[in-house]
Amino acid sequence: MSGGVRSVLALGSNLGERRDTLSLAVAALAEGGDVRLRQVSEVVQTKPVGGPEGQPDFLNMVVEVETSLGPLELLRRCQDVENRHHRVREVRWGPRTLDIDIITYGDVVLETPELTLPHPRAAGRAFVLEPWARMDPAATLGGTPVAELADRAADRGGVGPYRPGGGE
Ligand code: AMP
Repeated sequence: MSGGVRSVLALGSNLGERRDTLSLAVAALAEGGDVRLRQVSEVVQTKPVGGPEGQPDFLNMVVEVETSLGPLELLRRCQDVENRHHRVREVRWGPRTLDIDIITYGDVVLETPELTLPHPRAAGRAFVLEPWARMDPAATLGGTPVAELADRAADRGGVGPYRPGGGE
């Protein structure tokens, strides 16, 4: 695809077969030829931010895609993939099998009830910023290097390498 828009997506899972879910979701996002994967980050393990006490750790990663979809179409693609993993949305910031957020869509700035771009909380979330900065050391968000934002993020102590084990 040439002339598509580059977009950064963040994926997280803290229920079920978390690592498999992320792999399947990345593959599903790129089905159909209108979303092409450009870069895939490492997977990190993250202490939950907010939400109910005692919920399991998340696995998080980011991908950079190039897409011919518009921003809302891309959001719907993300939601379709979430729904295929039987995501339960009952508790805000609660456990979920799969969460996919659009972090950036080109340079588009948008604020609608359905979609805010760039993602309004990404600049403060180490679980997005750390894997993103390692995947793309030149990345910036709102004019600031992503690596610098990651260093400042309040939750940075809760993000570490994912070491498979314990049955996964
Ligand atoms: P969450 O439950 O945290 O995944 O939030 C999902 C809701 O956030 C959906 O209803 C989306 O319409 C909305 N939303 C707003 N901006 C974004 C974004 N940049 N990426 C993903 N979802 C978004």
